[in-house]
Amino acid sequence: MSVAVVVLATLTPAVDAHAAESATVVSPKRPLNVRAGSAVWTAQLRTLPHGASVAIDCQVKGQLISEGSVRVTDRWDRLTDGSYVSDAWIRRPGTPVPACGPAAPVAPAAVAAAVTTTTGSVATGGTPLKARTAPSHGAPLVAALPNGTALTLVCQERGESIAGSQRVTSMWDRLPEGTYVSDAYVRRGATPPPCAAANQPVAAPAAPAAGGWTSPLPGFRARPGFRTSNNPNHIGVDLMSFTGTPIHAASAGTVVEVVCNIEAGHSCDQTGSPSVGGCGWYVKLQHEGGISTLYCHMVRRAVVQPGQKVKAGQVIGYVGSSGNSSAPHLHYEVHINAPPTGPQNAIDPIPFMRTHGAPIG
Ligand SMILES: [Zn+2]
Repeated sequence: MSVAVVVLATLTPAVDAHAAESATVVSPKRPLNVRAGSAVWTAQLRTLPHGASVAIDCQVKGQLISEGSVRVTDRWDRLTDGSYVSDAWIRRPGTPVPACGPAAPVAPAAVAAAVTTTTGSVATGGTPLKARTAPSHGAPLVAALPNGTALTLVCQERGESIAGSQRVTSMWDRLPEGTYVSDAYVRRGATPPPCAAANQPVAAPAAPAAGGWTSPLPGFRARPGFRTSNNPNHIGVDLMSFTGTPIHAASAGTVVEVVCNIEAGHSCDQTGSPSVGGCGWYVKLQHEGGISTLYCHMVRRAVVQPGQKVKAGQVIGYVGSSGNSSAPHLHYEVHINAPPTGPQNAIDPIPFMRTHGAPIG
């Protein structure tokens, strides 16, 4: 009997010296997503309604969120259960929230998923290794990790190819915070598992639906806008997003064009504007059944090449605002009876994607 009491006592968590910050969700239009990491493309664990109280443990730097109702910030609040919410949607006392320590624990959902993580270390030989919000050197910088830093590698995602000290590779390692480092500069033993598999137990980005179609920008919605009376020449839809967010092939196919489409005198490698013509850096994919998809305004040249076969969901490039664009977004087109592609055979992607099991609207 007394033995049982002792066991229970050891399982009771020690009282933390620093009381968790209490705060409130301010998101009147839709529930706030609670995520496994500090970016909107990390696994969604649950949602919190407007007005919900949250207990904040500490803050990390992550994806910049500019449409929050409270502030524009790249800070994400780690809750006492290890999950994250963007601080852009949190009203809280004015006292600063402490920064999370370097040994941030993996979110409990990831632990529950029983994903075997791999360890490694930064091996640049000198300069710090940059951790970014997406697997590309064009993605926003989150942290600079000194040479020799120990790393926990949750999984790998294909991105930009990098020639580093350890290997030449297009694989990037995802860290527990949801950020990415190029595997080219990581000294390690075993190869981390692919991120898709690691995500499955926590119900993150869905595998392609039965028809083989998937959202080109998981977690972001398209706003209706195909060929409207105000804008009859707009033959696609726009998914507002953030610079550096990975763009995925909506279905398996072949890359047929990787092009900078812009008015003479301008560059696709610069932020565009509504006064500049062209869809910027774009990719065109040809799929089975005479269907073609187009992805415009990438931040830089796509990470795929013409002629390359891609799988549904494969990262092909990163969101930007190149060409005729006023803010970072993906302009997405679907054409039937292709090739060729043109205004004559463009269809509204929203109903198309819905009927193909991958709603985007
Ligand atoms: Zn558009």
